Amino acid sequence: VLESFYLGIDFGTSGARAIAIDSLGQIIAETRCQYRSDAPNADDWKHTLWTLLDQIPGNVRHQIGAISINGTSATVLLCDRNHRPLTPPLLYNDARGGIPAVAPVSSPAHSATSSLAKALWWLKYLPDNTLTQAQYLVHQADWLSSLLHGHPGISDYNNALKLGYDPQHLTYPDWLQTLEIGPWLPRVLAPGDVIAPIQPEVAQRFNISPTCLIKAGTTDSIAAFLASGASRPGDGVTSLGSTLVLKLLSPIAINDTASGVYSHRLGQQWLVGGASNTGGAVLRYYFDDAELRNLSQQIDPTQTSGLDYYPLLTKGERFPINNPQLEPQLSPRPQAPAKFLHGLLEAMARIEALGYQKLMALGSGDVKQVYTAGGGAQNTAWQQLRSQALGIPIVPASHTEAAYGTARLAAGLIQLN
Ligand code: ADP
Repeated sequence: VLESFYLGIDFGTSGARAIAIDSLGQIIAETRCQYRSDAPNADDWKHTLWTLLDQIPGNVRHQIGAISINGTSATVLLCDRNHRPLTPPLLYNDARGGIPAVAPVSSPAHSATSSLAKALWWLKYLPDNTLTQAQYLVHQADWLSSLLHGHPGISDYNNALKLGYDPQHLTYPDWLQTLEIGPWLPRVLAPGDVIAPIQPEVAQRFNISPTCLIKAGTTDSIAAFLASGASRPGDGVTSLGSTLVLKLLSPIAINDTASGVYSHRLGQQWLVGGASNTGGAVLRYYFDDAELRNLSQQIDPTQTSGLDYYPLLTKGERFPINNPQLEPQLSPRPQAPAKFLHGLLEAMARIEALGYQKLMALGSGDVKQVYTAGGGAQNTAWQQLRSQALGIPIVPASHTEAAYGTARLAAGLIQLN
């Protein structure tokens, strides 16, 4: 009997990536493909999916036992009864719909970029002859996955969160079902649930076994979390990218829309998250990556900088302090650039610690260890400042690619109960 491999596919903002792993989580093959257009439509996504499958070595493809796909959250399509897109996709950051007043303030759908806001925009602005053909509202990952399994209108509870799905009760709330878009809503499974075997034509075309299962996917940021290795209550993941993003596994859901904190279900646990406007984008404004590396080596993290910064590029913060008027605090600025950087990193470490304290104050339970991902993760001076500010162990993420997290989902390696 041949060993099975598991394929995770990540559709991101500029391109897609696929990672195949074995049943122990070891990477067997990895491939990527940029979109052929700057503003890719569903056809471009499809082309990218087929290219990725083509690029996986034939012997690996032949042994794939399950496939799962993640997409960018709140990127949606409206489709006809044959699951053919009726409109170009509305992307994750598209805010044309405005905040949907019909969604309760505590709902993650109560946002101008939510999937719900986009659906309501279609309802209002699409011509009648298009609307009469509309049958399925699906997310990017749902639609791509359906190309493999052939069943229309199926989603997962991570993708469906910003549509207004209630992951606590595993149902769409009444206020949503009774809207005019009610009939468009996809059926929702748990991420990693089996949807169906791969369609025979697709299996044949790529020489994939017809017994290969297509499993429900998730969103890109949940997939990146799953890649890190975090799995127990109290495990946090800090992403030191352009912004500072905190995620924490909690036994209870927390939704505090005012500070942008909301919760994704993950099995019997909840992934609670918040994002600060501070982070790498502020560092990049003052220093390039080489300067960051060199200057960081001049920092003595056992000393305090004596500076009291709140690094922001523009005024306004949501988490851990919810204050749209909060001004950046970046003075006094010392002459030595290493000293200035010391103050910035120290402040970001303090804001990160404040962030976890805020989640704990909202009821998440204690943070026990923090995995680190993103461009700032390799900075050892920052690491030490963070470990002092947090007072708990900091562990490197085992993997940071969303495709790897989704491959773990396909392999059934995610045990969150
Ligand atoms: P994005 O959120 O854009 O995906 P990345 O995870 O790629 O971000 O991280 C990019 C950020 O990492 C940049 O804003 C940059 O300031 C920061 N960065 C890169 N190298 C370092 C370093 N050595 N120390 C601290 N920050 C760094």
